[in-house]
Amino acid sequence: MPESKRHADGTLSVGTGTAKPGEIVRCGIPTGKDHFGNDRDIPIVIFNGAGDGPILWLNGGTHGDEAEGAISIIKLFEALDVSKVNGAIVACPVMNPDAFLTGARGNPADGFTYDMNRIYPGDAEGYPTARIAAAHFAAMLPTCDLQINIHSGGNHSYLTSVMFTADTPACRELGAAMGPIWNMIMTSPSGGGNPSSQLVAQGVPAISIELGGLCRTLTADFHEVGDALRDSFLNVMKHYNMIDGQAEYAGTWNVGHQETVLAPGTGMWVGERSLEFLSPMKAGEPLGILYDLHGEVIARIDTPCDGMIAGVRSRPQVMEGEWICFYAVVDEVRDDFIPGA
Ligand SMILES: [Zn+2]
Repeated sequence: MPESKRHADGTLSVGTGTAKPGEIVRCGIPTGKDHFGNDRDIPIVIFNGAGDGPILWLNGGTHGDEAEGAISIIKLFEALDVSKVNGAIVACPVMNPDAFLTGARGNPADGFTYDMNRIYPGDAEGYPTARIAAAHFAAMLPTCDLQINIHSGGNHSYLTSVMFTADTPACRELGAAMGPIWNMIMTSPSGGGNPSSQLVAQGVPAISIELGGLCRTLTADFHEVGDALRDSFLNVMKHYNMIDGQAEYAGTWNVGHQETVLAPGTGMWVGERSLEFLSPMKAGEPLGILYDLHGEVIARIDTPCDGMIAGVRSRPQVMEGEWICFYAVVDEVRDDFIPGA
């Protein structure tokens, strides 16, 4: 288990807040001023458990069109009793508030560093979103033992439960600790421009997970996605002895890489009626049809190779070069990600 980075007396300071053991503090990571001269920040919750243990950072809303981090963090705190938690959670439901407010992937007012998931560790002297990323990363790095960055298909797609982790035992263990539904793991390099990758480069186990999309934010559907993520975080906390209970695992994990299928033309995308997520498919099976605006078929789009569907476009409007399918290719099957299991 990672060593905790709380103070010797158990208090934990992040951004503008300090929480004693057994305390919940809602505060922020300062990110400069708005045009009225008011202080801006990234809202965070320091949920400091009464007992000793690791500090788990949960980061949502890197992309502002992905609300799954926020709903799952709200649900997690509803399910936890701070007096019975060992270690701490630092939760950032929305890392990119301007993007969230506008329901867009990035801050529409920032054309230079639009995608916050490509610019870590940020730049305190850089473009607008790079400054916010730099503040977030500077607050996180010294206080983070484990990190989960929560994503989804956002406005354009639906993604099922898949994750990206570096090929290190500690990252694979954290990924496997998410529980039984997380049996497809993509390998991602360390040192890339997303927060997890930068944490891994600094020796902190960190993963990026996907589940959901705007097409599943209506009433019961949104609860179902949020509940699944909350239960996965609870499973992680059980695994690292942050709460009582027996963690459950997939047991075997498909490890692979992503093949992205992009639209070969501009028009309307209609997916096949029978597509199933994470079900083995052969090369050349139909994914769907791309129509032009006269209703003529531009292209019939097939699976590029043997693999499984991890995500598919949910928004019919599509421009040439945009995402159609996030296709997972299995390179190996592993059963050794949980030490001692
Ligand atoms: Zn995302």
